[in-house]
Amino acid sequence: MRPLHLSGLTQSELTDFTESLGEPAYRARQIFGGIHRRRLLGIDEMTDLPKELRAKLSERAVVSTLTLDSRFLSTDGTRRYLFKTHDNLPVETVFIPEERRDTICFSSQSGCPLQCTFCLTAQLGLLRNLAAGEIVEQIVLALNDAYGVGVRTPRGTNLVGMGAGEPFLNFDALMKAIRIMADPGGLHIVPNRVTVSTAGVVPRIRELATIPDRPHLAVSMAAPTDELRNELMPINKKWPLKELLSACKDFEKSLKPGERFTFEYVMLQGVNDSDEHARELANLLNRHQLRAKINLIPHNPAEPLPYQPSSAERIESFREILASKGIHTFVRKPRGRDILAACGQLAARSEFAQESFPVNNRTLVERRLA
Ligand code: SAH
Repeated sequence: MRPLHLSGLTQSELTDFTESLGEPAYRARQIFGGIHRRRLLGIDEMTDLPKELRAKLSERAVVSTLTLDSRFLSTDGTRRYLFKTHDNLPVETVFIPEERRDTICFSSQSGCPLQCTFCLTAQLGLLRNLAAGEIVEQIVLALNDAYGVGVRTPRGTNLVGMGAGEPFLNFDALMKAIRIMADPGGLHIVPNRVTVSTAGVVPRIRELATIPDRPHLAVSMAAPTDELRNELMPINKKWPLKELLSACKDFEKSLKPGERFTFEYVMLQGVNDSDEHARELANLLNRHQLRAKINLIPHNPAEPLPYQPSSAERIESFREILASKGIHTFVRKPRGRDILAACGQLAARSEFAQESFPVNNRTLVERRLA
């Protein structure tokens, strides 16, 4: 039997576990704080626990299961991590420092079952769903690498579920990870700082609309017509635009003040970026009376995929048409393209890995050498 993975337990599940070992409830608080607030990676590092308890825990449980395979550093400061699960599957995470906050882009699945033609992750296929603890650990490991084990982060941390995988096809683990990370006794990253992106899993959009403490929603569009979207994002055959946008409308009705809801639109040169596409897109959203913003994402080159990014002028013209029809539109700046860390480039590639590893995180270094 595999040991219990402590990173994936809520504080109350951890309390049940320590109680089953005959330990008082405050031990669970201590262990939870050790994992998520102090970001320790092993039971033996929790030196505030009695030695016997550590031994007892070690017989049955582990804190972390991901190991670092390689790390990539972009000229713009973005870092990409390629981790391996206990069963040797790839998990990728991207750390994006910005002036006033850090953003961590996490994966929800190893690989991805969707077959979006413009995304490299599709080429891996679905390897498996990640467990809640494997989602949480990505954030712990990225923060430890950026700042050192347990060091308080100098800026706020935002999370985006936009890495490998379709988060809404791993909904329960995703929502559990978000609950664990929100706990004030741990990482304390509240759902208001989390955005989850879906390719359009309609029933889960509707479910999310009913959840009070929920992350922000982003929906990947990529095309204004069913014909083109069927081609670029085959998930559209299952949930076509009409159904998708009607779920989005219901979601919009459930928004509370300050909540965000955005569409992502990847700009593929000569494929979905004409003025006509912009007008169709604006009319589509206006027909459904959606007020959501649109983020335009220039396509990130992803060899061997047959696409090129739209030019800056094309994107600007597209943006202006949307704006003239009353739709708030932003152009997203790609980060980490040079290390295959940008949207749609995560495919467990290990070119450009750093040879030497000058990090302040001993554990990661040792793991890599081991
Ligand atoms: N499966 C989810 C989560 C992945 S998010 C989803 O589809 O929303 C990744 C975002 O990057 C999506 O909005 C997707 O449309 C976009 N994307 C995928 N490949 C891309 C590429 N090569 N260049 C730019 N954006 C891309």
